[in-house]
Amino acid sequence: MLRKDLLTILGGGSTDSSVLRGCGVTALEQREQAIVATLEDGRQLRAELVIGADGVYSTTRAAMLSGDHQKASLIGKASWRFMIPNPGVECWTVFASAEAVFLLMPLNQSETYAWAMPKQSGNGREPAALEVAFAKFPAVVREAIRSALADPSRMHHSPLFDIRLSQWATGRIVLAGDAAHAMAPVWAQGAALGLEDALVLAEELSNISDWNTAIKRYEARRQPRAAHVQAATDRMSRAASLPEWFRTLAMPFIGPRSYASTYDPLKVWP
Ligand SMILES: Cc1cc2nc3c(=O)[nH]c(=O)nc-3n(C[C@H](O)[C@H](O)[C@H](O)COP(=O)(O)OP(=O)(O)OC[C@H]3O[C@@H](n4cnc5c(N)ncnc54)[C@H](O)[C@@H]3O)c2cc1C
Repeated sequence: MLRKDLLTILGGGSTDSSVLRGCGVTALEQREQAIVATLEDGRQLRAELVIGADGVYSTTRAAMLSGDHQKASLIGKASWRFMIPNPGVECWTVFASAEAVFLLMPLNQSETYAWAMPKQSGNGREPAALEVAFAKFPAVVREAIRSALADPSRMHHSPLFDIRLSQWATGRIVLAGDAAHAMAPVWAQGAALGLEDALVLAEELSNISDWNTAIKRYEARRQPRAAHVQAATDRMSRAASLPEWFRTLAMPFIGPRSYASTYDPLKVWP
């Protein structure tokens, strides 16, 4: 699913009066009886509970945890994602070397999602550098990059962060999605985990009137799942760094097993 389609669906379920747009939260202050959020335009809102689903650069996480605990670790200075016509893959396909990773995921008959991460590209924001970084990769990868470069304005550049926290909640604040557990997108589970977080948190909050208990139950249900995908991500990153001859021999055996051991547990509702 494309992000814009997801946002349209989510937006369709809300009324104008329930959503404030264009006024980010700049600060959160926990008080005994409430939490007070200050908005960019200076307004202040009081709430019983704040759910911080504000992504990798989360203001909420910064308000909840001090110092290094709240920081995200930078795992890639530059990565690119883009949509292209299918260059000839049938399913989730990853190409990895010690220097770079390239992922292709067909979405429908015509469109394919691609993600490229050259590990040594510095902060480079120049998409043409991808042709050099992936020059030794198979033809399907080079073809995908060539087709994306026909319109570089549609290529999305971003650094990559990893966030691992022992607690997702403190006082009147609880985190969800990337704010709690951002990870490298090799298994393409970040958005899925975020959506599941929202559903599980909603379920717990609607079943239990005491939100302290609801949040503890939410953490207990969700943390092992995020940790599972993060561990699988680590294994994939380690496998990509193995010597090429070994990877070529081992991957046909390891690859399908890693795929199954990562995704099979996720088919069970948390
Ligand atoms: C290169 C790359 C490729 C990826 N590919 C995939 C993939 O194929 N599949 C997949 O499932 N996931 C993928 N992901 C991960 C996915 O994008 C994230 O996991 C997902 O977007 C997280 O959703 P989120 O709602 O938690 O955070 P975000 O999508 O980051 O949304 C956070 C929202 O909070 C808002 N916000 C931030 N700060 C404030 C503030 N102070 N006040 C108010 N609002 C604020 C932001 O504007 C934003 O709208 C990829 C990530 C990267 C970097």
